[in-house]
Amino acid sequence: MKILVLNAGSSSQKSCLYDLTGDPSQNSPQPIWEAAVDWTQHQGFAAVKIKTLQGEFKQEIQTTDRTQVLTHLLDSLHQGETQAIAALSAIDIVGHRVVHGGAHYTESVRITPAVKQTIADLAILAPNHNPAHLEGIEAIEKILPTVPQVAVFDTAFHATLSPVAFTYPIPQELTQQGIRRYGFHGISHQYCAHRATEILGACASSNDDRDLTSFATSPKLITCHLGNGCSLAAIQNGQSIDTTMGFTPLDGLMMGTRSGAIDPAILLHLQRQEHYTVEQLDTLLNKESGLKGVSGVSADMRQVTEAMAANPQAQLAFDLFIHRLRSGIGSMLASLQGVDALVFTGGIGENSAIVREQACVAFKFLRLELDQDKNHQRPVNQDIATPDSSVRVLVIHTEEDWAIALECWKIQAS
Ligand code: ADP
Repeated sequence: MKILVLNAGSSSQKSCLYDLTGDPSQNSPQPIWEAAVDWTQHQGFAAVKIKTLQGEFKQEIQTTDRTQVLTHLLDSLHQGETQAIAALSAIDIVGHRVVHGGAHYTESVRITPAVKQTIADLAILAPNHNPAHLEGIEAIEKILPTVPQVAVFDTAFHATLSPVAFTYPIPQELTQQGIRRYGFHGISHQYCAHRATEILGACASSNDDRDLTSFATSPKLITCHLGNGCSLAAIQNGQSIDTTMGFTPLDGLMMGTRSGAIDPAILLHLQRQEHYTVEQLDTLLNKESGLKGVSGVSADMRQVTEAMAANPQAQLAFDLFIHRLRSGIGSMLASLQGVDALVFTGGIGENSAIVREQACVAFKFLRLELDQDKNHQRPVNQDIATPDSSVRVLVIHTEEDWAIALECWKIQAS
């Protein structure tokens, strides 16, 4: 089965094609074709990188039109040096990551006109994402009208939040209008929880000395997705019971360019005293804050950590990131009333040993202890806690595109 996955962001588009044979649920194959589009490198141009089994290819297209770029990507699937399939008709199903499914969708669904309408209606809650997803869905409809399409929602995994976890302490008419916590990064949190349970199960069965069976079957997990966007989830019995992102992906932890949670009265102050417009506030909080705003160096954790020895602002940005991360973990810990494993994923979570070390050191009082060697040896899908640690610490490579492909496979097979 050939599954095309489209993952459209506000300033990037990742796409890949999987060729599955047999029951794929036990392994995650490499895609046979992968494309990444970046609109931020060169204004008015789309920078396209395509990777196939034959090699890597870079292209630049002079356009800002997403549909034109998507058409180019689809052409590259079956033509020229990037060709991976004989014809587009070989594609069996297309899966889309959809950032906002609101309270409507608790699981992945086949895309129908009604689903498209809901994604369009929810664009007011995710203006940078849902319109881009719709463009992708409609472009595929035009080019491959008979191919089924599936929406996999980033909010769906958090549909299990209880009212106390999803309600903001504001007048309840507003909650009824949909102003509540939804949570995001759900595809990644769910995938990592699933992989963590597998890894813990393997730990339990290979360990004769300790009784690890309870956490191997229904572990209490705190998953830390730390990339450009950052969020935590508290997971019990495979279900999300709390999370740091809220009504939008701006809430919670400090991120690359996003502030995370701040006193809402700061916005009132800036509007009243400094006459900020809504657009200026949006840019300030989403694009100019976080690591970038505090360090003045970069939104990229690598550059912030490199600069911090000589640059006090970069040091403050790093310390603040860690302070917020520790507070968030503490909050998830209280919601779970305990924790069996702390899971790190995303570009920072998977690659930054110093972030993991600094986050974990605050929980030494729980007898959580990192194995420093393992932490520094580029761990992947591995437990990096010491054998005596009271809490396991896992580094898991998140595979959102693969998780979307699996959802397509399940829907197609059902
Ligand atoms: P996205 O959230 O857009 O999917 P990623 O999960 O790829 O992004 O994370 C991107 C971030 O990961 C980068 O901005 C960078 O800060 C961080 N990162 C990547 N590699 C490293 C590294 N070796 N050390 C520290 N941070 C890293």
